[in-house]
Amino acid sequence: MKSFAQIAVNVPSVAGVFDYAIPEDLAGSIGIGHLVIVPFSKQTVQGVILRFIDQPSVADTKDILEIVDPDPVLTSTQIALAEWMAEATLSPLAAIINMMLPAGLNQQADVQYSVTSNHLSVSSEFGQVQFRLLKLLQERGSLRGRQIDTHFRNVDWRKSAEWLVRGGVLAKKSVLPPPRVRSKYIRVAQLAVPLEEAVAALPNLGTTEATQKRRSAALRYLMRELDEVNVSWVYAESGCNLPDLQLLAERGQIVLRENEIWRDPLERVERRGIESSAIPILTPEQARAWEKIHLAFSQSTHLPFLLHGVTGSGKTELYIRAAEESVRRGKQAIILVPEIALTPQTVRRFLARFPGQVGLIHSKLSEGERYDTWRRARAGLLKVIIGPRSALFAPLPHIGLIAVDECHDGSYYQSEPPFYHAVEAAKTYARLVGAVFIMGSATPSIVQRWGADTGESARLDLPRRIASAQETKPHQHLDLPPVSVIDMREELKAGNRGIFSRDLLQALGDTLNRGEQAILFLNRRGTATYVFCRDCGYALKCPQCDTPLTFHIEEKERLICHHCGYTRQKPGKCPECGGTQIREYGLGSERVETEVGNLFPGARVLRWDWETTRQKDAHEIILSHFASHRADVLVGTQMLAKGLDLPLVTLVGIVLADVGLNLPDPFSAERVFQVLTQVAGRAGRSLRGGQVILQTFQPEHPVIQAASKHDYTGFYQQELERRRALGYPPFGRLVRLEYRHRENELAEAETRKTAGRLKSRIEAQGRTQTTLVGPVPCFFSKLRGENRWQIALRGPNPVEILQGQRLDGWRVEVDPTSLL
Ligand code: ADP
Ligand code: ZN
Repeated sequence: MKSFAQIAVNVPSVAGVFDYAIPEDLAGSIGIGHLVIVPFSKQTVQGVILRFIDQPSVADTKDILEIVDPDPVLTSTQIALAEWMAEATLSPLAAIINMMLPAGLNQQADVQYSVTSNHLSVSSEFGQVQFRLLKLLQERGSLRGRQIDTHFRNVDWRKSAEWLVRGGVLAKKSVLPPPRVRSKYIRVAQLAVPLEEAVAALPNLGTTEATQKRRSAALRYLMRELDEVNVSWVYAESGCNLPDLQLLAERGQIVLRENEIWRDPLERVERRGIESSAIPILTPEQARAWEKIHLAFSQSTHLPFLLHGVTGSGKTELYIRAAEESVRRGKQAIILVPEIALTPQTVRRFLARFPGQVGLIHSKLSEGERYDTWRRARAGLLKVIIGPRSALFAPLPHIGLIAVDECHDGSYYQSEPPFYHAVEAAKTYARLVGAVFIMGSATPSIVQRWGADTGESARLDLPRRIASAQETKPHQHLDLPPVSVIDMREELKAGNRGIFSRDLLQALGDTLNRGEQAILFLNRRGTATYVFCRDCGYALKCPQCDTPLTFHIEEKERLICHHCGYTRQKPGKCPECGGTQIREYGLGSERVETEVGNLFPGARVLRWDWETTRQKDAHEIILSHFASHRADVLVGTQMLAKGLDLPLVTLVGIVLADVGLNLPDPFSAERVFQVLTQVAGRAGRSLRGGQVILQTFQPEHPVIQAASKHDYTGFYQQELERRRALGYPPFGRLVRLEYRHRENELAEAETRKTAGRLKSRIEAQGRTQTTLVGPVPCFFSKLRGENRWQIALRGPNPVEILQGQRLDGWRVEVDPTSLL
């Protein structure tokens, strides 16, 4: 008998789980995972049924009021996952559940009330509330619960409504309106007539000189291109606008089409290679790995797989096979990628192999689209879900596979509350649903690789790179590109003050002469230009975040803070000493772009960084532009390190490798090694071969040495020893506690107080192996006007110390990925 239920209520300020009674009329239809409406102090709120219980933990329980959605919104395994995550990350359960539900659900799901007949005689039995409710509904036809709420502030009208429903006066039904589906489209233009006809049309396209000039330029451009082109490029090249193109289309000279975005930009490039039906024969190494993965599908328990394969070794092909196997068994698959906009090639390969069955989850989906994908996933209509970390929460009914591509990537860690590691959550989820789990990377994290070496997961190696399928069939192996390390101190000694070494200049020139492509990589956007006073050395900082402002020529010489967006004009005078020699110093991608333009005037340079991708669809446009060889040099930041496969790229120049190497953070070496190895892996993906030139001021640094030899094992061993000595993960665990406040003194005082409390707790519990580090100001000591202080706990199980502790206002990170 279902008489009571535990419910996680969706009230942000409330962490807990509450017991409610199940009224008889709902008992038949209520189940685990149902979204319900319950009274909560003076409001009515939504909540999710976690489980049924015989005895409530309090004597005085309230009744559940409604079931919102006739189908459960969470599966019982999702509930189990949420409970595991809440415990493992010390987060409130409601915060985790809230993250699992689509944002639109709260607004969409409701109960609708209407009067059954308009000729009701008002019975004397009706109370005041019933009377008002009936009158309202007679006036308005039908209303949803949330609309009625606005008419009855602080009045519990639902009981009255229930009474009227039982008496047959009102009817109610759950409403969950299907959102309007709107796919993302981009507009493309293409020449529609033979060239001679277009030439003949050229002279009279407009009535004024200006329109004639714009339209003929547009038509000329499309005559050169022949293929379809994103209209943004037509606008950029010809100065025309949409009405111009529409006029040309009306006259039949061009066609304007809207292509669904995920089919368009790289398709041309892709088509040359993998036809959607062409399924490659596995290489012997892939086949060995596949044998193990395949076997796991028919075993009831299996270890997680760590697919450790160099860049371009055919990992994606194995994820695809595994997803196919899952679908063949009548189940679904979840594929996590760092970010869809940055990994369009991986996404398209899945789209080609699972036509019509893939649900994409990405940041540009509207709430309605997200909600719609969620509904289709829940109904089992989508076989494969691809997306960033949040895609893990798609409510698929029978999951057969969870794969995490580039499993080392920082984006799998949610760095805002509730903090969590999606790779760890995915691993647990796979175990709970009995799915095969694969995490793949060329540079797995130290902790991930250690897991494989200690038997927590099974390692599958793909040590060799495969030539891009565009050129070879059957497959052929390639070497990883050689990396030359250039000592920039020597360049300075030789009188070269430029940002490029002589070797890099030579290689860039050669690459361009051969008609091939080059990538120039800048470690992070923080390397952009500082602005400082030459007289006193004062560097201009953001007043909110205390980090140096960066300089942007394109934005009319403005200074911008990349943390909070604060911006100001470059000052004429130093705010410190009043000197007038304000100069910018350092290396931003703009500067690199300008330099290449100066040195190689014929080269087409494209910049891919924070500034150039603020526009909608900018990632797709820039990438497709480069992939289809409309540009020769791509200058970019960390976005470049995410698994692009660009066969024409034969040179990667790492302009300055050292950035980030000397930060006071136990994880900085790992991060730099990963990004350098990944970027180096963008070169030489085809039989044309390739090379990497790495510029550094610290050529002897072990991280630089290991990265330049593609030597993961060497790096892993040396880093493992360092961490063993210091008790860092995987040899100890960390919890980071951060406190922020506008007043620095208050932040410090609170941090000291809490540190003292925790210290005595550690001593009282006799945890001699646990150390408390701090309290100290964080390395980035200010953010958006707030001062940051931190404490770190390091030891065998620091989470235990914090269980049950009140830490209001603190940000608590279990297994943080950075201590900055
Ligand atoms: P990774 O995911 O490890 O970076 P990919 O799966 O993208 O590697 O493979 C690299 C390239 O090799 C791709 O162009 C892919 O199409 C091709 N490829 C993968 N497996 C095979 C195979 N068995 N035979 C031929 N080409 C293959
Ligand atoms: Zn700022």
